[in-house]
Amino acid sequence: MPMPIPTADGAAMAMYPETMMMGHGYRPEWSEGSLKPPVFQSSTFVFSSAAEGKAFFEVAYGHRGRAPGEAVGLIYSRLNNPNVEILEERIRVWDRAERAAAFESGMAAISTTLMTLLRPGDIVLHSQPLYGGTDHLIRKVLPDFGIEGVGFDVQATADEIEAIADQLGRDRVAMIYVETPANPTNALCDISACASVAARLSVRRRVPVVVDNTYLGPLWQRPLEHGADIVLYSATKYIGGHSDVIAGIALGDAELLDPIRAMRTFYGSVAGPFTAWLLLRSLETMKVRMDAQALGARQVADFLRDHPKVARISYLGHLEPGDQGFDTYKRQCLGAGAMLSVWLDADEAGAFRFLDALQTIHLAVSLGSTESLAQHPATMTHCDVPIDERDHMGVTEGLVRLSIGIEHPDDLIVDLGRALDAI
Ligand SMILES: *Cc1c(COP(=O)(O)O)cnc(C)c1O
Repeated sequence: MPMPIPTADGAAMAMYPETMMMGHGYRPEWSEGSLKPPVFQSSTFVFSSAAEGKAFFEVAYGHRGRAPGEAVGLIYSRLNNPNVEILEERIRVWDRAERAAAFESGMAAISTTLMTLLRPGDIVLHSQPLYGGTDHLIRKVLPDFGIEGVGFDVQATADEIEAIADQLGRDRVAMIYVETPANPTNALCDISACASVAARLSVRRRVPVVVDNTYLGPLWQRPLEHGADIVLYSATKYIGGHSDVIAGIALGDAELLDPIRAMRTFYGSVAGPFTAWLLLRSLETMKVRMDAQALGARQVADFLRDHPKVARISYLGHLEPGDQGFDTYKRQCLGAGAMLSVWLDADEAGAFRFLDALQTIHLAVSLGSTESLAQHPATMTHCDVPIDERDHMGVTEGLVRLSIGIEHPDDLIVDLGRALDAI
């Protein structure tokens, strides 16, 4: 859908997000006519007068609101930086968010968000399973701060989630935290169901629904349109897309994002100028990359589904009416993504023979980038998950997770066929 953006003369102009990725939020006249923003590799910025410095600090520290038309002045790169500001203005277009905040990693975005919004005595209800780093933060770190995490099955209904809240004490639930699709099973969580529960729990305070959208966003899932309040990204994945930068993004409305942005200053978790510059470069090609990845993933998934050495494959594009998750998929997702979970007809040794035989596809964790990657969840990303939970999720010895890149799918299929023969 074209997005209305204000132009210099104040008129609104409708454009598609991919068009806006070329220049939105930046003007060449700011930088000697340079078509691309330079890297503002500066730690600090000069005030034109002492009064201006005073005014900038008053606004930055929240001592007074901004006057109409008053810009946020540049002070020091832990507070703000031109590359970071251009990135935040540009990236919020995809999720149509009011505010964005860029971080030096996905985990920095997640931890700063949780530490800003949660207080001792609070409970965060979260879908299960979660990304390993997030799981560790909630299970091992937050309890020392008096914050408890309680999981619900990723496919739970609104009634089931609300029943957990009733059991724990409705007033204690301060956040619903969601990851969908789940890693590595691709099971889907219904964001609108979580939003309906959060709305009913928001009596004494706003209970936000926070969605880690790394797996399908920003192209194939827009959680804010389904009632989520905050969207988080590991921008290391599809957004960065070249396996050359670690970064994170938080998006949402001003009421929630402004405190997160303020806390970022004190945790020092803001993205650096070069990180922001790399992401600006990456955003220009993000849509074509993700489109190509999705096309390739479908071909690879179809090949694997029919292969005798493959017991089962989980790929969103294969969901059919009647399947668990199909209705949520149709309502919530705009594409099937490029992540495949493949259960080989093999034990750990067989799975390792498969992984070691791959030549074009690299054996590495991470996902969403131009090159295809394969990994073994049971011994790699999910080795920390207790064995009974791993069994429950279907993280078996024979499971491998693939992230499909932008290589020609035929080359990937040749590589996978050869590796399957090696089992
Ligand atoms: C990678 C990842 C993260 C963590 O992001 P980093 O950039 O590595 O800090 C969080 N959530 C999901 C779903 C991820 O895939």
